Amino acid sequence: MSPEGTRRGGIALHWRILAGLVIGAGLGIAANLTLGPGNAAVAWICANLAQPLGQVFLRLIFMVVLPLVFSALTLGVVEIGDVSRLRRMGLTTLALTVLLSSGSVAIGLSLVNTLRPGDHLSETTRVELRTRFTAGESTARAVAQSHQAKPMREVLIDLLPKNPLQEMVGALDGSSPGGGMLAVMVFALLFGIAITLVPERTGPLVSVLEGLYDVSMAVIGMAMAIAPLGVAGLTFSLTATLGLEILSTLAGYVATVLLALALHATVVYAAALAAIARVNPLRFAADGSDALVTAFATSSSNATLPTSLRVAEDKLGIHREVSRFVLTVGSTANQNGTALYEGVTVLFLAQVFGVDLSLSQQITVVLMSVLAGIGTAGVPGGSLPLVAIVLVSVGVPAEGIGIILGVDRLLDMCRTAVNVGGDLVIAACVQRRESRRFD
Ligand code: ASP
Repeated sequence: MSPEGTRRGGIALHWRILAGLVIGAGLGIAANLTLGPGNAAVAWICANLAQPLGQVFLRLIFMVVLPLVFSALTLGVVEIGDVSRLRRMGLTTLALTVLLSSGSVAIGLSLVNTLRPGDHLSETTRVELRTRFTAGESTARAVAQSHQAKPMREVLIDLLPKNPLQEMVGALDGSSPGGGMLAVMVFALLFGIAITLVPERTGPLVSVLEGLYDVSMAVIGMAMAIAPLGVAGLTFSLTATLGLEILSTLAGYVATVLLALALHATVVYAAALAAIARVNPLRFAADGSDALVTAFATSSSNATLPTSLRVAEDKLGIHREVSRFVLTVGSTANQNGTALYEGVTVLFLAQVFGVDLSLSQQITVVLMSVLAGIGTAGVPGGSLPLVAIVLVSVGVPAEGIGIILGVDRLLDMCRTAVNVGGDLVIAACVQRRESRRFD
């Protein structure tokens, strides 16, 4: 799924997705304004054409969520363990990754809780959305689940699955007996740590996991290939029934994500650069701009890696040993912008569906978003499967992703720039700590 691989007929994927959004929204609004929201012909088109198109796209993503999350997280840990010969550097990178990601999720959640962009919908629209994205009983279950929050003690114990397979089976529809997807993630982390303890006997197992990861990514590639049609279908059926109201709510959501990303970059990154790396943040941003622009244009941390490496070594003066390690691991494992976006999206959709999240559920969102940031592939749309699982784990219908898909590409460009910026910031901080070794 390299950006090159996403071109068809010379038109890059993001332009085709944008076209899908504009055409779907244009036709939907036109139908809503001229024929009215309840028109029978429009309802038929929505039910038999537009929504099935969107569903095919979403199901291609959902079907590989479990293998993808399991293999990505396990391999992520194995990779960090592998390089534990560079122990100090590995630990500093890991600590900074968790610190910066937690900061970014905290900023995102505070903003979305303050601005509440999903609250501006009328009750009729909310009910319409619930019926559309969940079928009868599961709607009731989703909303009911949100009211039956478990005590913190149980939430923590449930992080360790009694039977990981049972947790996996129920992870996508919220029917797991214990911690659901979060428990699956903890299992993957422990599995990865265990592999690093017996490296001499686990080579073939790691190869199988790499194969599983590649195959899952290939299926995501298929989903992205039909993304323009899926987005057009989903946006048409949303706007045809709900009109302009849904568009203004989405504008509020986009503004919240962008504001939170800007705050994270200008406050948290600047503070880390000034306090830990002891460099001037403005100068750093100017010198690193090639990498940031490439990330914005490609929406892929992985595709930006060669540019980041060049920028780090040539312009930011970061030692090759540090940049190779931190930027390579970071292009997949350190995704602050993505973690922030995932937290905001889950809370926004909870607001849209009228699902009240308890404190322990919000803490679950924070934990899962930080972990999801680590487990997200550095490719365009890599975080969508992860958003789905965080949604399910707090009782919000995963299909709700259909509401935000149309605007996702713009947000993807911006969060990827923040992700890559974060990798460079951590590299600069690690460089400072390691500087004595290079003197
Ligand atoms: N596109 C992002 C990246 O490559 C991942 C995501 O948030 O979808 O960093």
